[in-house]
Amino acid sequence: MSEERTLNFLEQIVEEDIANGVNGGRVLTRFPPEPNGYLHIGHAKSICLNFGLAQKYNGKTNLRFDDTNPVTEDTEYVDSIKADIQWLGFNWAQELYASDYFEQIYNFAVQLIKKGLAYVDDSTPEEIAISKGTPTEPGKGTPYRNRSIEENLDLFDRMRKGEFKDGEKVLRAKADLASPNMHMRDPIMYRIKHAHHHRTGDSWCIYPMYDFAHGQSDSIENITHSICTLEFIPHRPLYNWFIEQLEIFPSRQYEFARLNLTYTVMSKRKLLQLVNEKHVTGWDDPRMPTISGLRRRGYTPASIRAFCERIGVQKRDNMIDVSLLEFCIREELNKTANRVMAVLDPVKLVITNYPADQVEEMTAENNPEDPNAGTRTLPFSNTLYIEREDFMEEPPKKFFRLGPGLVVRLKNAYIIKGESFEKDADGNITTIYATYFPESKSGGDTSGLNVKGTIHWVSAAHAATAEIRLYDRLFKVEDPGNEEGDFKSYINPDSLQVIPNAYIEPGLLKAKPGERFQFLRKGYFCVDTDSTAEKVVFNRTVTLKDTWAKEAKKG
Ligand code: ATP
Ligand code: MG
Repeated sequence: MSEERTLNFLEQIVEEDIANGVNGGRVLTRFPPEPNGYLHIGHAKSICLNFGLAQKYNGKTNLRFDDTNPVTEDTEYVDSIKADIQWLGFNWAQELYASDYFEQIYNFAVQLIKKGLAYVDDSTPEEIAISKGTPTEPGKGTPYRNRSIEENLDLFDRMRKGEFKDGEKVLRAKADLASPNMHMRDPIMYRIKHAHHHRTGDSWCIYPMYDFAHGQSDSIENITHSICTLEFIPHRPLYNWFIEQLEIFPSRQYEFARLNLTYTVMSKRKLLQLVNEKHVTGWDDPRMPTISGLRRRGYTPASIRAFCERIGVQKRDNMIDVSLLEFCIREELNKTANRVMAVLDPVKLVITNYPADQVEEMTAENNPEDPNAGTRTLPFSNTLYIEREDFMEEPPKKFFRLGPGLVVRLKNAYIIKGESFEKDADGNITTIYATYFPESKSGGDTSGLNVKGTIHWVSAAHAATAEIRLYDRLFKVEDPGNEEGDFKSYINPDSLQVIPNAYIEPGLLKAKPGERFQFLRKGYFCVDTDSTAEKVVFNRTVTLKDTWAKEAKKG
């Protein structure tokens, strides 16, 4: 990042560590997704942070799949996570799996049993909860807390061998039942789960809990700075306790505020519901806050990185306005997207004094913001399509577009004057008639006419058709996850509007999925993967202006 800014608190910590020679100045971070869903914009924040810190301080970042929960995990998720990180522009030093450490983590557990610091407990979850006491009262423990080391070793071995059913026994740390931190009151280290794991298959029927896997994995990899979100602050003493008791590499945990975005949900569990219950078309639905959804919507990796940089790193939970994300993509596409013309709500315009058999190739600038973007030609004829909203039968005073007697410029072409119109039986305008001024051609205008408005158009005989998908916010309220009742009752019923037959410049038929354009006056659009040779499908990435801010001002 070229922009000068003060160091965030994590950069300060890393710089201090380097100055003090901690770990010889080495920086190794990790990004630890659980492969139980697709990555979302919140993960992008964590990715930019972990990879960004390492890049800045000559370090490296591991990609570690935190795959210790066999039930919800899947290789489809592993593949999508890798693709998304690479798309965001980051490369990991090593691709690792917590499940590869199962043997080592098991041995760590045995080590703790041997030190008298772990025991097998046969209690029910309810009994265990009671044994921990309350925040104001120390726990009393369960009768199993005093089992001998030999008995614990034998039982733990038999847990591994599959002699017990799910839930029959757990392995608990013998930590501190009087600790004010409930996480220290003999937390569970292992549970029995006779479940198939996407990598280790059926080799294991006991799986370590997060608290006895994450720090251990960090340590095995010699991670220097283990960055996670604020809800893990109370886990930190336990993170350190395990590392100290095991006398393994002292990784250190640091916490930052998770990213919350308005008008969406960010928990994978909720996103999975939206997918499974078909409120969206999939994880990559352009309305989803997932990386794959944003990509399909037309967001670029750079715009997402710029967004993460802009919001910075906080120590307190907050809510970021989605309009900031929209601002970031708008800012980039304004510089990079070629301008084209597309008519979304067409009405026919006939230029009565333009020869019916004539076609002119008009020259159009691709991007006024980019002198290297070049020009293209556009066929012009006497019959065009323009936007229905650009013509008014009885225009009010400051309407600088088309109406009977009003003059307007057709972008890259001529100035025309509205003459008359025809309507169908329902009162809808079907054809507008206009005349043009031959000397007013763009680029060589000698007409001396002065017009205030410019509208876009496509030639009816030459236009191609496209399906256009306009998106709005997926939810009607700012924080649907925190509203009363089911978050899905706040889904915006108008979040997708499909225009099956819009007219586009003929050249756009060649556009490939992922290509981005500015449709003049209409917004930024991206070619969707649903496009076929016969039909191009466009997603609106974002409007040209923040229409919601305007709505809010109107009140
Ligand atoms: P979810 O609640 O959506 O399932 P998670 O934290 O369980 O999220 P993980 O796959 O475990 O998802 O997350 C991988 C990493 O990404 C973790 O380090 C986690 O802290 C971070 N992360 C997840 N969500 C956010 C967020 N909204 N903002 C910042 N970081 C996040
Ligand atoms: Mg998690």
